[in-house]
Amino acid sequence: MTDVLTPVLSRTWDSERSWSLESYRAKDGYRGLHAALQTSPDDVIALVKDSGLRGRGGAGFPTGMKWSFIPQGDGRPHYLVVNADESEPGTCKDIPLMLAAPHQLVEGVIIASYAIRASHAFIYVRGEVASVYRRVLAAVREAYAAGYVGRDILGSGYDLEIVVHAGAGAYICGEETALLDSLEGFRGQPRLRPPFPAIAGLYGSPTVINNVESIASVPVVVLNGADWYKTMGTEKSAGATLYSLSGHVERPGQYEAPLGVTLRQLLELAGGVREGHELKFWTPGGSSTPLLTAEHLDVPLDYEGVGAAGSMLGTKALQVFDETTCVVRCVSRWTKFYAHESCGKCTPCREGTWWLVQALDRLEAGEGTEADLEKLLDLCDNILGRSFCALGDGATSPITSSIKYFRDEYVAHFTNAGCPFDPVASTVFG
Ligand code: NAD
Ligand code: SF4
Repeated sequence: MTDVLTPVLSRTWDSERSWSLESYRAKDGYRGLHAALQTSPDDVIALVKDSGLRGRGGAGFPTGMKWSFIPQGDGRPHYLVVNADESEPGTCKDIPLMLAAPHQLVEGVIIASYAIRASHAFIYVRGEVASVYRRVLAAVREAYAAGYVGRDILGSGYDLEIVVHAGAGAYICGEETALLDSLEGFRGQPRLRPPFPAIAGLYGSPTVINNVESIASVPVVVLNGADWYKTMGTEKSAGATLYSLSGHVERPGQYEAPLGVTLRQLLELAGGVREGHELKFWTPGGSSTPLLTAEHLDVPLDYEGVGAAGSMLGTKALQVFDETTCVVRCVSRWTKFYAHESCGKCTPCREGTWWLVQALDRLEAGEGTEADLEKLLDLCDNILGRSFCALGDGATSPITSSIKYFRDEYVAHFTNAGCPFDPVASTVFG
């Protein structure tokens, strides 16, 4: 078996009561904070920049660079906001991280806030997962009691308040500017960018918004150094990361490995595709990223490798589907999700996702025609690049990529006057 497991963030997850302060401290917890407070904020930013850490929320924007955009000295307060609104279909890495090791996140929040000179930080947790909200809140309270948060942290003179906020369960609030509106008490809808939040974010002030996994990676980077971090991963995609494998695999779950591993290597860890079956298609980063197929098993799972294969790394949510899955049915289920979650602000997405669902329903029921297939592609063409935020674009990805690889299967639905697949054979979409 290829041994690509690299427990960096997950190194503490199997400790007893791994979520407690005591358990976290027994595994170097908060030593990164001690180290950070002994250096200047600018040096912390330089270190994170040098490590090559890139945003783990999906886009892969360099974390240190984002921090360095915060304007200094114009009198406005600075804020750190953690995007813990994990909701992308198939994505399941931040929620396990926060349940197993909330102090990794809290320590990262303190270091990042110190680096950008913020005195307030907000952790915006997805509303549906009350257990995560409670766990993160408990960890923040423990950190306050231990003197890691609050006034004069560890005698450094640095003050920080952390607020844990539960969203109300809207996928669009994972879009960073919609999240800010929601945090300010408004209906969560995306704002026009630029200005990016680093220039004008929460309450119009400079704001860094980072994903949970990005922030939780900061303590180990500060503690072990940029060169150590760069020993993992590839030249342009440094470090180890959490891959979530789901669907038709023997052992679904979170696997931590360096950026640049392949699905073939991860499948070995996960026991392979379920016994007696073979890989048909998969998503590299949730349903918003174009589908790939068995011919892409050896694509390096980093930002460059997946991009060259015609998709995106996204959230590293590897959803695996075997030959029993009807791709039309699968894509139709995802599209209904996007239509439901569309915030309604812009016409291409609000109206377009509704029309996509109509066309897919007809095709799936065997009532479609070649013209419906063309209409579907035409609709995607009119949504992609014309929507206000990434949700609209993401809705088109599974459709266009599935037609690219499985056009015959779409056609089979209307030539057979129905779905050619056994609905009970697949355990993924019942
Ligand atoms: P983006 O590339 O527009 O931006 C990425 C980050 O970089 C943002 O924080 C943005 O503010 C910052 N940025 C980019 N250019 C900048 C500039 N010139 N100046 C200052 N800051 C700049 O991506 P996005 O639209 O924010 O996010 C899309 C990604 O979100 C997709 O890749 C998708 O995979 C992911 N996603 C994740 C989830 C989830 O549950 N984790 C859900 C949906 C989508
Ligand atoms: Fe709202 Fe969709 Fe437009 Fe984004 S693309 S602003 S989710 S309607």
